[in-house]
Amino acid sequence: MTEVERLNYDVVVIGAGGAGLRAVIEARERGFSVAVVCKSLFGKAHTVMAEGGCAASMGNANSNDNWQVHFRDTMRGGKFLNNWRMAELHAKEAPDRVWELETYGALFDRTKDGRISQRNFGGHTYPRLAHVGDRTGLELIRTMQQKIVSLQQEDFKETGDYEARIKVFAECTITELLTDDGRISGAFGYWRESGRFILFESPAVVLATGGIGKSFKVTSNSWEYTGDGHALALRAGATLINMEFVQFHPTGMVWPPSVKGILVTEGVRGDGGVLKNTEDKRFMFEYVPDVFKGQYADSEEEADRWYTDQEKNRRTPDLLPRDEVARAINSEVKAGRGSPHGGVFLDIASRLPAEEIRKRLPSMYHQFKELADVDITKEPMEVGPTCHYVMGGIEVDPDTASSSVPGLFAAGECSGGMHGSNRLGGNSLSDLLVFGRRAGLGAASYVAELKERPKVSQSDVDAAAAMALAPFDPPGDGVEENPYSLHTELQQSMNDLVGIIRKAEEIERALEKLGELRERIKRVTVEGHRQFNPGWHLAVDLRNMLMVSECVARAALTRTESRGGHTRDDHPGMDPQWRNKLLVCSATPGDNPVVPDIGVTVKTQIPLRQDLLELFELSELGKYYTDEELASHPGSPA
Ligand code: FAD
Repeated sequence: MTEVERLNYDVVVIGAGGAGLRAVIEARERGFSVAVVCKSLFGKAHTVMAEGGCAASMGNANSNDNWQVHFRDTMRGGKFLNNWRMAELHAKEAPDRVWELETYGALFDRTKDGRISQRNFGGHTYPRLAHVGDRTGLELIRTMQQKIVSLQQEDFKETGDYEARIKVFAECTITELLTDDGRISGAFGYWRESGRFILFESPAVVLATGGIGKSFKVTSNSWEYTGDGHALALRAGATLINMEFVQFHPTGMVWPPSVKGILVTEGVRGDGGVLKNTEDKRFMFEYVPDVFKGQYADSEEEADRWYTDQEKNRRTPDLLPRDEVARAINSEVKAGRGSPHGGVFLDIASRLPAEEIRKRLPSMYHQFKELADVDITKEPMEVGPTCHYVMGGIEVDPDTASSSVPGLFAAGECSGGMHGSNRLGGNSLSDLLVFGRRAGLGAASYVAELKERPKVSQSDVDAAAAMALAPFDPPGDGVEENPYSLHTELQQSMNDLVGIIRKAEEIERALEKLGELRERIKRVTVEGHRQFNPGWHLAVDLRNMLMVSECVARAALTRTESRGGHTRDDHPGMDPQWRNKLLVCSATPGDNPVVPDIGVTVKTQIPLRQDLLELFELSELGKYYTDEELASHPGSPA
């Protein structure tokens, strides 16, 4: 029998980024005991890295802003493939979630008259991003950690134990979810430092594990983003949607190679920075797609006036949604007009005084100075696309954040639907707050209504332990595989063959490679002991990366159109017949004991509710919808 530390909680939240922490607060506020587990240090999550800000239509910088405008922008950004109910809840609730953070102790930057300041970002009609310089995510996490400490102090007063209702398990990785008759019964994992196993017996699990970027070679994501939550959910029987949509942020650092991919916030363009090619031309004016024609400035003069007068001028095309800008940069580089290291130039130096740049963008100034020896107040940055965010994720009910597996909830980047085919910048931090809260609430309500708690079976615990330990005990047929080599090969294939521009023949090659890696992973071998062993940790994560990569590739092959974060060179147009179709990934145990088989099925979206449909002009919807779908629009000819 496996030696395991066993603990009991009402709710286990896996992930301590923004979504996880907001879920913890909510479940605890409803009176339940909550374990929060994170594989890195507490406080070190992607949310901390968020620079630009948190989108919420508070209307502080422009009083014309409201939830309807935010909803419209989000649906446009996602090319109308979004789960519209999620987009509606998000747009309506984001302002309350931001104000609520201030009641927890956050302090956002201010307008001159003392309200929360809001900045411009791509795809947002009005300045909408509440921010703290370019360190917004840090403030968000700091504040929620502070709130958690205050709740722990309340619990101490009542029980004499700070950890009576919230306990943090840092540097602890969950490798498997356990079920009892199809319902969640617990989560199994290991302490990274000691390698010892830990079992959380709990009827409700909230997944808040973030994204999948580490499956790609060039990425803004850090080591934790190995798609664990996506894979855990699949193995527990839940489904993933929209996995073909991966966001390549247009502006990652391209030089030096050691920092390639690190993010340059969109806030640089929001604050006046412009993209230029080697001919010193502001090329984005050439790349406004038909669906956005008329909404963006068509001259540099108008674009520049827009920064100070948004009523009379249209916004700069430098702030088109990310998918459009990333493709434009790709085209410029391909056409030979790229910068010396294979990107384009992002110039803020000639646009703002040095002091202002340092004040508004302190992290960017520091990042370039330290890592690339570039002074962004004096010279342009070299930037290019980097894998940044996955729109696809666990399929959830919008109101409760529950997956199809009873007791399993998901929020934040590991959930899917909210952003459709492409996320707008700033809409992730607000998503974490809105749906983190809803997931905590969903889990609490589920537990409250349970008549009888599911049980963990010992055989499941033994199986989870055996799977985790397999890399120490390879088949012994003389062939040993190194987890680092497999990871490098996976990242290269995903980058080259299922990256920013895709075609059938290349995706098929990627799937062949993934098939090969699925076989080779059976022989992954690690040296040494279970005590802090990074090779072993990677071997365990690799299984998840292979599963999510296969979801991305299979869905990308199935969707024969281009939309948002999925560009098919062989199917360049957006096809209205695909607009309401979701690709759903599920896993079935095949003949490979390590990596289950992935299947993709097509599902039809629930039609947009009539009152929401009517928020859009018929002429705009006509660019995305079929005539049949629009027959009920009041503007439609009878
Ligand atoms: P995270 O914050 O990444 O947290 C994931 C948590 O899960 C971590 O605690 C991790 O340790 C844990 N975890 C993962 N797997 C396991 C496991 N197996 N077991 C236990 N724990 C696990 N969005 C915006 O809206 N505005 C911005 O300005 C912005 N800027 C960004 C800048 C950068 C550089 C990056 C990378 C992203 C940015 N984003 C921004 C996107 C946004 O930050 C992320 O989408 C968001 O923070 C994800 O939050 P999350 O709570 O879902 O996950």
